[in-house]
Amino acid sequence: MITPLTQIETRTLIIGSGFAGLGMGVQLKRRGDDDFLILERAGDVGGTWRDNTYPGAACDVPSHLYSFSFRPNPDWSRVFSPGPEIQSYLQDTAHEEGLREHLRLNQNMEHARWDETEGRWHVLTPDHEYIAKFLITGTGHLADEAYPNIPGLDSFTGEKFHSARWDHSVPMEGKRIGVIGTGASAIQIVPEMAEIASELVVFQRTPSYIIPRGERAYTEGERRLFRRNPESITALRSELFWGGENTFAQRRAIPQFLEAGKKLALDHLSSQVPDPELRAKLTPDYEPGCKRVLISNTFYPALQSPVTTLESSALASVDGSTVTAASGAEYELDVLVFATGFEATEPPYAKLVHGRGGLNLSTHWEQGMQAYDSVTVAGFPNLFSINGPNTSLGHNSIVYIIESQIDYILGAMDYMTATGAEIIEPTPEAEEAYVRSIQDNAVGTVWLDGGCSSWYVDQRSGRLTLIWPDFGYAFRDANGTFHSEGYELRDISAIEPVTV
Ligand code: NAP
Repeated sequence: MITPLTQIETRTLIIGSGFAGLGMGVQLKRRGDDDFLILERAGDVGGTWRDNTYPGAACDVPSHLYSFSFRPNPDWSRVFSPGPEIQSYLQDTAHEEGLREHLRLNQNMEHARWDETEGRWHVLTPDHEYIAKFLITGTGHLADEAYPNIPGLDSFTGEKFHSARWDHSVPMEGKRIGVIGTGASAIQIVPEMAEIASELVVFQRTPSYIIPRGERAYTEGERRLFRRNPESITALRSELFWGGENTFAQRRAIPQFLEAGKKLALDHLSSQVPDPELRAKLTPDYEPGCKRVLISNTFYPALQSPVTTLESSALASVDGSTVTAASGAEYELDVLVFATGFEATEPPYAKLVHGRGGLNLSTHWEQGMQAYDSVTVAGFPNLFSINGPNTSLGHNSIVYIIESQIDYILGAMDYMTATGAEIIEPTPEAEEAYVRSIQDNAVGTVWLDGGCSSWYVDQRSGRLTLIWPDFGYAFRDANGTFHSEGYELRDISAIEPVTV
């Protein structure tokens, strides 16, 4: 017998409990709005910081900036705090802000459907049907891991896992380990593995620009000051934010800034890698910022450990324990670590979401993700996407963007309450014009013209779909406050839009 799904009604349904979902929940709760639920497919909050437990995981944005402005933390241990500390911060946020009662853990969204006559979203999990006026996705770009399609991988006789799904039951000491990739995750993992592996092979398809990591622990005196004087955290946050903004000129490809960025990275490479042959392999042939500029003081030294081999070509095939690179070189390995990134360009959740007339979000996005004001989508009423299309920054903190978007969404909700409108939806024309303006703004940036291939750009259309191609403060100026232009606001079942 099929058990009917339990129906649960709520005004606002938030998907995901990372920085975006929790931040949204905090702000609703602080306004006295208790009519919301947060669905989380895993057993705990934290998003990417819950998932990425690999050795060496840490943030490459300074912690006093990579945290909520409305929840400053005087106790960050370091400039760039380790992953578990960020995860604790998010767990404390959920607990201390009273979000636990709103959380529904282990609830995987399997289907979401807009019902126009009811003016409600219906979201299915394996055992519940959630019915909500507003659906807010906070699923991030780093939720679903990406594996390259490697012939013979199933035949691998050793252990294999993704960096975001680290298998801590696998003993790594003394093993022959292959790390695939040289992005932000890999450069944190490789130094840790070089300490314990008997042999370490790093498969590098494309070298990254790497700059020094200005890392240190905060002294007890500094932390006392932060505790006694919260203004000092605000001042530090502002200094870090504007320091980040200063590096945007490089992303705009302004020549002297581009050269300065390149020099900083290549000087770091020269100072850490004396061997010209190795240095050549590690020198990028594209402009800095086209792919994420990485920070590390330990990656290059780890590559020069006696146990490490830099294989400067892709992992191409696997046969049993033999792993073959595109160069033809073969290695015998016990463990493969896939630091190969995430399904960021084509987020899997889009296939699950069905808007007006059954329109599927992934169909709407078949030429790449897009949203009006980077937050709402034509054909998908009362849907808001935090940290969705054109929201990532290559040069500053995503938490700043998330907070801007939360403010916009709260403004939209207030506007609807004030006007009595039940349904909000951007017009296709407004969405297209916004997308065009983003693309116009992206022309000449390192992301489009920097000579690399990256997941910031949708390969199907060549559009920059992940990144906001401007200063961080410009995002808040443009998209941090709700405005009604470009929207249709309707009553339930109203055929004509209500006048606003
Ligand atoms: P990523 O930036 O997408 O890097 C994936 C790497 O895998 C790239 O080097 C890619 O090479 C390589 N790769 C893919 N298939 C390969 C193959 N067959 N053989 C060899 N190499 C292959 O993923 P990520 O390092 O996980 O980083 C993703 C994002 O997470 C970052 O941009 C950042 O936003 C975030 N992150 C942040 C931190 C932090 O400290 N805050 C830490 C980790 C991650 P190509 O370059 O040639 O494609």
